[in-house]
Amino acid sequence: MRRGILCRALLMVAIVLLISPKIALAVKSHEELIKGAYREEKEGWIYIHIEGDPYKLGYQRGYLVATETDKALEVMKFYLKNATDKEWNWYRNAAKKQWEKIMPDEYKKEFEGMADGIAAAGVTGIDYLDLWAWNGWIDLAWYYLPTVSSAETGDETQFGIAPNLKRHPPGPGCSAFIATGDATRDGRIVLTHSLWYDYLFCNYWNVWMDMVPEKGYRIITQGFPGWIYGGTDFWINSGGLMVSETTISEFVGYNPKALPNFVRIRKAVQYANNIDDWIKIMVTSVNGAYANDWLIGDIKTGEIARLELGLKNYHIWRTFNGYYVGSNMALSPEVKKETVFDYNNLNSTAICRRLREIEFMESYYGKIDVDIAKKFQADHYDPSHEKYIRTANTICGHVELDPRGLPEWGYDPYYPGGSICAEVTDSELADKMKLWAKWGHGCDYDFIAADFLKKHPEYNWQKPYLSDIISYPWTTFEIMK
Ligand SMILES: [Zn+2]
Repeated sequence: MRRGILCRALLMVAIVLLISPKIALAVKSHEELIKGAYREEKEGWIYIHIEGDPYKLGYQRGYLVATETDKALEVMKFYLKNATDKEWNWYRNAAKKQWEKIMPDEYKKEFEGMADGIAAAGVTGIDYLDLWAWNGWIDLAWYYLPTVSSAETGDETQFGIAPNLKRHPPGPGCSAFIATGDATRDGRIVLTHSLWYDYLFCNYWNVWMDMVPEKGYRIITQGFPGWIYGGTDFWINSGGLMVSETTISEFVGYNPKALPNFVRIRKAVQYANNIDDWIKIMVTSVNGAYANDWLIGDIKTGEIARLELGLKNYHIWRTFNGYYVGSNMALSPEVKKETVFDYNNLNSTAICRRLREIEFMESYYGKIDVDIAKKFQADHYDPSHEKYIRTANTICGHVELDPRGLPEWGYDPYYPGGSICAEVTDSELADKMKLWAKWGHGCDYDFIAADFLKKHPEYNWQKPYLSDIISYPWTTFEIMK
């Protein structure tokens, strides 16, 4: 009898010991996990600061932008169904199949934390697989899916016009430059970039993240809510790198067994502290998605580089004096072979903007600074019209005003797409993890959805979600802590 009581008592002690740490964790978890995180809003932007181990980093991100993540996912599901004929489950399944075995543990934990943080904010129905697919939708929609279609049709040249795709793969566009040495006013680096895409979902691409991971460098980047890597093509890390990119138009090729672009980019910006490191990470286990021209600057040395990265090939340019521009076209003979880009089409946006960008850079050579970069992003000279006009061929892009549309990217006449934000930094600012950013077009043009749809009812299918893109003034963010 006494032995029975003793056994029960020991069992109770054992159970309490086993459970109590979990009780303590459950009680403290939210406070512990959210410690150090904060969110601010400024001039059209959401700015979040997050810090800690992988789970905590994810939890904080999820918690701070849970509502925006939910809304952005809703719009993206609508868009992808229309653009690719695939339900969201197709994206979830593809993400799981391709990345379950190769996703680094660090980021797996971060995604788990993010799903929990979103739930803790009261948003239900988003799990880690939604977040994998959300971070990788560009890989899956515009690089993987066309290879599936090619296999189905048996014709690999029919990239992007396979029966189950309603549109060409886009060249998610950007106008960018990086300059250094003789080219700039103070001899140090200047970097600028603008993002182009569909106005339908771009309004959710307005989150600046100041991330302090447990390992690696502090990161400043812009992205969709719930993205772990940025993805709007502008990064600064505390190792002294500033990085941007322009996506290579009409690129063909994908390797489903290699790392998705969001993992490689996040690794590179988190762990690289020089140009060689960045390139090494980016060219390892390349899946081909988001094949880009990377513009990389090292503020410690003043050197800049252009990494043109395809699936099978890459090409590197480096210099301490000069500039590289980006307008969405491959330049190296090796990577050109991996595209179906028409180099003879002088009306294409990529060629027109490249011509104008070089003309612009030459005219300001030796004087380039942050103010000149802002001017660059508001430029509307169209070489195909030989005049200043807002079109799809100008550095500040306005497909919505262009009767040509942008057929190279599958945008019909007046399609609501173009540049939606711009960023600038230089060595002095980047050294303090600072930059200038402008929400909306690089110029002062407001896109008003209701007015647009009145003129262009052919895009009424977008009515449920198409919203205004207001052009805000340039603003800056500072690290608060
Ligand atoms: Zn403009």
